[in-house]
Amino acid sequence: IAEKLQNVFKKLTSRGKLSESDIKAAMREVKLVLLEADVNFLVVKKFIKELSAKAVGAEILESLTPGQQVIKLVRDELTELLGGKQSEIKLAGSPPTVVLMMGLQGAGKTTFCAKLAGYYKKKGKKPLLVACDIYRPAAIKQLHVVGEQVDVDVFDMGQDNASNIYREAAKYAMKLGCDMIIVDTAGRLHIDDEMMAELKELKKTSNPTETLLVLDAMTGQDAVNAATAFNDNIGIDGVILTKIDGDTRGGAAMSVRAVTGKPIKFVGVGEKLTDIEPFHPDRMASRILGMGDVMSLIEKAEASFEEKKAVELQKKIAKDQLTLEDFLDQMEQLQDMGSVSDILAMMPGGNKLKGLTVDEKQLERTKAIVRSMTREERLNPQIVNASRRRRISAGSGTTVQDVNRLLNQFEQMKKMLKQFSGKGGKRRGMMKFP
Ligand code: GDP
Ligand code: MG
Repeated sequence: IAEKLQNVFKKLTSRGKLSESDIKAAMREVKLVLLEADVNFLVVKKFIKELSAKAVGAEILESLTPGQQVIKLVRDELTELLGGKQSEIKLAGSPPTVVLMMGLQGAGKTTFCAKLAGYYKKKGKKPLLVACDIYRPAAIKQLHVVGEQVDVDVFDMGQDNASNIYREAAKYAMKLGCDMIIVDTAGRLHIDDEMMAELKELKKTSNPTETLLVLDAMTGQDAVNAATAFNDNIGIDGVILTKIDGDTRGGAAMSVRAVTGKPIKFVGVGEKLTDIEPFHPDRMASRILGMGDVMSLIEKAEASFEEKKAVELQKKIAKDQLTLEDFLDQMEQLQDMGSVSDILAMMPGGNKLKGLTVDEKQLERTKAIVRSMTREERLNPQIVNASRRRRISAGSGTTVQDVNRLLNQFEQMKKMLKQFSGKGGKRRGMMKFP
């Protein structure tokens, strides 16, 4: 899917300006990607409509190619739709902070209660876990087990009434000096009136700082239905999306947010109690678009490139002043980042550059050749004529063919960098893409 999207963007990259038919074609692909990522059809329809309107009216930034422009637009819009900024759990002005956890059976409530308790314990809070899943004795035991694992107290009163349990738990929390009460509740396999009535009552009794709905990301449309039902009946402050470590693309996240308007606050990324992460809308947007590889490439490249150096390089590329010294530098940096062919494979259109491989031996040879050049030759490779090539190859213990190859590769790289850097260049390093 992501490949298809990249094809469209590649096509766009090769054209000058963003036309209406460009946008239409791109939107068609974006739509498919979203549907295949399991985003609700109506949500997709609305999103595409708004996006298209924005794309048509969008100001064309000089520094971006049309393809980059569309990617940026789609990603920005999707990020916005997923909540824009990261949304934290609200803490009570005067403690304790009360967090009420709701959701269908098997969504991951009990697990997440413990994860959250552990997360805030590490931040210096003193949480208390409260067992209000009164229907299954096993559920109470489960909370004790996970509570122990994160070293947090667990309060239970067996199968008493949930509101009663809460009242007693609140007193107990006061006595222990807990500043956070996390309430685990019962879920059913399906939404029913009895469950809603009970949760409503518990919400009234506990007056939670945060009422959170736990949703299993793998359940797609079911998660969307649950979100609507819980939000309409009880009212929620935010959503927890669990099991995004599975092979789901996370389309449910987009639907849930769009349908309820409530932020996703945390995600569960595994069965271990440390597998909890704050929700990052921008990362989820990339994941839904299937741009994970591109994003990790960008991060990898950013980590490896020194900012200042990269800026200088960018300027040189823009002015066509790249020297063989820079070339050598780049080759060494590429080597630092791991196998070049791996990196190229991660890039949209990267297979075009297969000729540019670096192995240890060749790098040594390249270094030797560059060192055998005069400074003038390094800065102006075009003056390296036949007799200079002979001298350089003799001096570096290589052949004239080796020198030719290097100079060709250098030209090739220069061209490629210029292509990727666009006009003016907002981007810093050669690998920053899109
Ligand atoms: P509850 O019925 O809502 O309380 O759900 P549980 O907390 O008992 O979790 C149901 C199952 O989902 C258990 O087997 C958990 O280990 C598993 N689970 C919960 N969260 C995650 C997660 O983020 N990733 C994965 N892979 N499994 C999870
Ligand atoms: Mg449970």
